[in-house]
Amino acid sequence: MDKLFGKTLDELKEIVAELGLLAYTARQISDWLYKKDIHDIDAMSNLAKRTRDILKTRFEFGLTPSHNVQESIDGTKKYLFPTIDRKFIETAMIPEDDRVTVCVSSQVGCKMGCLFCMTGKQGFQGNLTAGDILNQLKSIDEWQKITNIVYMGMGEPLDNLNEVLKSLEILTSEWGFAMSPRRITVSTIGLVPGMKSFLDKSECHLAVSMHTPFDEERRELMPIQNVYPLEEVLKEIRSFDFGRQRRVSFEYIMFNGVNDTPAHVKELTRLLSGLRCRINLIRFHPIPGTPLTGSPDHKIQAFKDALNKNGILTTIRASRGQDIYAACGLLSTKELMRKE
Ligand code: SF4
Repeated sequence: MDKLFGKTLDELKEIVAELGLLAYTARQISDWLYKKDIHDIDAMSNLAKRTRDILKTRFEFGLTPSHNVQESIDGTKKYLFPTIDRKFIETAMIPEDDRVTVCVSSQVGCKMGCLFCMTGKQGFQGNLTAGDILNQLKSIDEWQKITNIVYMGMGEPLDNLNEVLKSLEILTSEWGFAMSPRRITVSTIGLVPGMKSFLDKSECHLAVSMHTPFDEERRELMPIQNVYPLEEVLKEIRSFDFGRQRRVSFEYIMFNGVNDTPAHVKELTRLLSGLRCRINLIRFHPIPGTPLTGSPDHKIQAFKDALNKNGILTTIRASRGQDIYAACGLLSTKELMRKE
């Protein structure tokens, strides 16, 4: 049975028309789906019983509860949601001061094969729908307290562009969750065509996983460099007008003796000079099956200081939720973090 949750207002209008219901019913349904705290069609109390019965012939409300939740001593939680083929996706909730950030997954597994990532090692099992993505927000205990959303969980969001854009439309539309796009960040390893569409069609922040400024090295860490070299990604970013409010940041996992040298500082400074952006340095905790190890703290600090001195705004992410391995996709290496 199809799910109502995750449909855009336009899709709801089509459904309502197909079912021969009154046009304004679409807006009533979107209010129930995205603005109220109910879980089934029968609770849509301003719809006539007959209307609800007609809807139920084809649709269910569409929320799925989490299968399991683990809580870290620092308050971070990792939720597991069931998806296709008895696989699970991970969602992380990170509380900090007056903020509650949720990290959502966009795919089951991932095709991109980054050397440092657990999800990449699982291979690709499928795309999530907009409803599956939004369910990770609506079906956690803290959903009414969420202040920020990051698409940094399992999968490459721009490899599932249509459903990700749909979920962003629902999150930011006045008829949907009505969230500010400035509170949402979508992370990509740099799929250029998808990035162009995302930049044109949404107003949310962009985070690009860079991890090294050098071609050859990046090719070894991230096979996508063979298809969309960093140079092309940066060219696209430089040609886009981000305005004053929208932000682009670069994620940079620190690998000991690999990408943490003065030569890297120099090349990063050259590549990013004049671009209004920020670099987020991320501690790496080794995963099975890779020779990579994380840079020690003093190196990360020195790297940050050197970049800042060169005029490149750089921060270090704080590790969160390590005791529950609250980590998914990029977060399995990025941990669950906020900037310092
Ligand atoms: Fe996929 Fe991101 Fe992991 Fe790369 S880092 S394999 S894009 S989930």
